[in-house]
Amino acid sequence: MIPVVALVGRPNVGKSTLFNRLTLTCDALVVDCPGLTRDRKYGRAKWKDKEFIVIDTGGIDDDQIKGIAANIARQTLLAIEEADIVLFIVDGRAGLMAADLVIAKHLRKSQKNTVVIANKTEGIAKDSAMSDFYALGMGNIVPISASHGTGINYLREQIILPL
Ligand code: GDP
Ligand code: MG
Repeated sequence: MIPVVALVGRPNVGKSTLFNRLTLTCDALVVDCPGLTRDRKYGRAKWKDKEFIVIDTGGIDDDQIKGIAANIARQTLLAIEEADIVLFIVDGRAGLMAADLVIAKHLRKSQKNTVVIANKTEGIAKDSAMSDFYALGMGNIVPISASHGTGINYLREQIILPL
C-alpha cells in the first residue's frame, strides 16, 4: 500500500504551502485510491522512487459557507484516520497556541504515528522557537520552512522514506 501522510494543524501554519512543496504540482492531483474520500485535498508525491499520498486539511470546498471550525475539525479527524503518519504542523514564529493543544489532544487519542513539524523557522533562532513545543510531549520537533524549502529533504529522508 502506498503510504498516506496527513498534514494537520490549525489554520495558517503553512499546511498548504508544505503540501505544494511535497506534491508534484501546485494543484492537488486527485488520486484514485479506494477508501479515500474526496472532501480533503489529496496529492501524489514521490521521493527517490518512493510514492506517497499527502492529505492537506482545512480551507477547501465551501468552508467559508459552512461553519469553518466544525468543517476543519471534521476534516482533520478524517485525515488522521486515513493516515499512516501525521505531520502535526505548528508555527515556529507564533509559538504554542490553544488550538494546537486541542489538535494534540485528538492526536494523542488516535495513537497515530505523529511528528511535530515547526514551520516558518527560516531566519529565526531554531532552538528557542522549538522549545515551546516540547510541552506537547510528542517527541522531537522538526524545524522546516515550507516557503523557503529548508528542512524538506530531511523530512522526506527521515520521516517519509522509512514508511
Ligand atoms: P494553512 O492554512 O496551514 O494551509 O497555511 P498556508 O500554507 O495557507 O500558509 C499561511 C501563510 O503562511 C501564508 O501567508 C504563507 O505564505 C505563510 N507561510 C507558509 N510557510 C511559511 C514559511 O515557511 N515561512 C513563512 N515566513 N511563512 C510561511
Ligand atoms: Mg491550507
